[in-house]
Amino acid sequence: MKSDPSIIVKKGRNPGKIVTIMGGVHGNEPCGVEALRKAIEEIEIINGKVYFIFANLAAYALGIRQTQMNLNRAFRHGNSLTGEEKTSYERIRALELMPYLRKSVALLDIHSSSNQRSTPFIICEPHSFDVAKRLPFPIRSHGWDKIEPGGTDYYVNKNPFKGKGICIECGYHLDPEAPKRAYESILIFLRLMNMVDGDKNIPINSAQKQIDASFIYHTKTDFSVVSGSFPDFGRINEGTVIGYDGNRAITAPFDGVVIFPQNCGGPGEEAFIFGREE
Ligand SMILES: [Zn+2]
Repeated sequence: MKSDPSIIVKKGRNPGKIVTIMGGVHGNEPCGVEALRKAIEEIEIINGKVYFIFANLAAYALGIRQTQMNLNRAFRHGNSLTGEEKTSYERIRALELMPYLRKSVALLDIHSSSNQRSTPFIICEPHSFDVAKRLPFPIRSHGWDKIEPGGTDYYVNKNPFKGKGICIECGYHLDPEAPKRAYESILIFLRLMNMVDGDKNIPINSAQKQIDASFIYHTKTDFSVVSGSFPDFGRINEGTVIGYDGNRAITAPFDGVVIFPQNCGGPGEEAFIFGREE
């Protein structure tokens, strides 16, 4: 691999695991980048090797989420991408980053949200729950690989040795707690991977809820969320109107939770995700 200033490699003096910690997959999310910088400066790796990756450089320089496609959908098989997506900056960047992820037994990918009321939560599949349960988040959710393939965590989960792909959504972009939560998660993650000094016996967060992300609703025409809207992971009952696709009311198909409901201007957009509390 050629040297790349956006990829900082920190190596311990002893052998150990290889993991990746990423920030800035979306260029308008300063939380991960801030936590990464602090971690690079302050954390001493004792065992193994960490790739600290500043992911979407072009979008970050512009302060926008993405330049040509969502980097967090670009880690898919090329067959499932459109011609435009294949030549996009984000796809090319994903191809550059894939070799690092293929070597990693675990990934911590740090995100934040544009929603001021956003609830911090974890995205991972059940084989990573042992880590997720110890992170300082009120919610862990799974099922995303099937409804939103192509994320960094999806790619690591697909490793032949079944890496632990973990994505953390740390809250609102500008909430000062978000980078703190991210940094604390980095420390816990590295302790659990036995890569740093410090107590490895991290207690389980028993108050953490588990949500299955069941499906994603794509618009037929456009979408407006009902007034009053919903907090992320807000519980709603079967039959409750979530919003309107054109003139058609879209209701909760079962008692569950709404995640990321948003107004959409056209067809085929991601209006909301619907999940089930387990
Ligand atoms: Zn993000």
